[in-house]
Amino acid sequence: MTARGRAGIAMVCIVHAWQAVMITENLETVVAEIAAEMAKRPDRGAVAHYIPELARVGPHAFGIAVIDADGNVFAGGDADVPFSIQSISKVFTLTLALGKIGDRLWRRVGREPSGSPFNSIVQLERECGVPRNPFINAGAIAVTDAILSGHQPREALGEILRFMQFLAADPTIAIDEAVAASEQRTGFRNIALANYMKSFGVLENPVEFTLGVYFHHCAIAMSCRQLAMAGRFLAHSGRNPSTGHSVVSPQRARRINALMLTCGHYDGSGEFAYRVGLPGKSGVGGGVLAIAPGKASIAVWSPGLDPSGNSHLGRLALEGLAKRMGWSIFGV
Ligand code: GLN
Repeated sequence: MTARGRAGIAMVCIVHAWQAVMITENLETVVAEIAAEMAKRPDRGAVAHYIPELARVGPHAFGIAVIDADGNVFAGGDADVPFSIQSISKVFTLTLALGKIGDRLWRRVGREPSGSPFNSIVQLERECGVPRNPFINAGAIAVTDAILSGHQPREALGEILRFMQFLAADPTIAIDEAVAASEQRTGFRNIALANYMKSFGVLENPVEFTLGVYFHHCAIAMSCRQLAMAGRFLAHSGRNPSTGHSVVSPQRARRINALMLTCGHYDGSGEFAYRVGLPGKSGVGGGVLAIAPGKASIAVWSPGLDPSGNSHLGRLALEGLAKRMGWSIFGV
């Protein structure tokens, strides 16, 4: 290679390195500005009341954590305060169930957006007890049942919890027993959904066992920082780029992201895709895990919800982040 060629390559490398530094600095500023902006907003949505223990959480918290491809963490607000991950756990139970029984899972649960609220029962009757997708409550209960088969509830729950601890590289992650007990006492709608599916033979295990595991994995408490860590494999083709651990194949990661995009926000999934443009999964605890493929794993938390049961400020924060970073999967 000529001296001029070498100089050209060196120049390109310097430009790339400089761009990388610029992107990192930019992300740091953007995250700090979003956290400051969200802390000030008066519109905060309404905290979930149907699980009494969740209703005790005030609407004032806001947290955000973004982990880029190099493992840099950008955090703001209440990023280290644990909250109830609720339905975000469904991303991880889906991952485990696919690992356990592979594509046979799709005999028990569909892959289409429901266009209905997360706890709706109407579609189940028309579709013979087979839930539309793994992220509505009925679908997640069917997925939990698949993980439970062949195990005691305690073992299945232990496996789910250890998976979260492994992904987040944090053995302190735990279940909030008060939240689990609160939902167990008042989860009449889920009890109805599970019994209805059982009547069609969609659930293999005793309904109370499956629901016990379901309520407890919904009650796992994690901070934004821990959750963003746990989601990293989805942002990087199934692999944690820092440890090199391969969690799922690239194809499976792509498919889980596709389901998060189309079904992760229930009847608000279209609006989330329109405004944010990233695969995302919300929970009624007010958390959202969002994935910028190849770029970042993001967790936001604000307990106030919109009418579809998705975090109000969480969505606004992700909309701002995706727009300012140019991260929408549909382009800038
Ligand atoms: N545990 C909650 C329920 O089953 C989860 C719902 C949610 O987060 N959207 O109702």
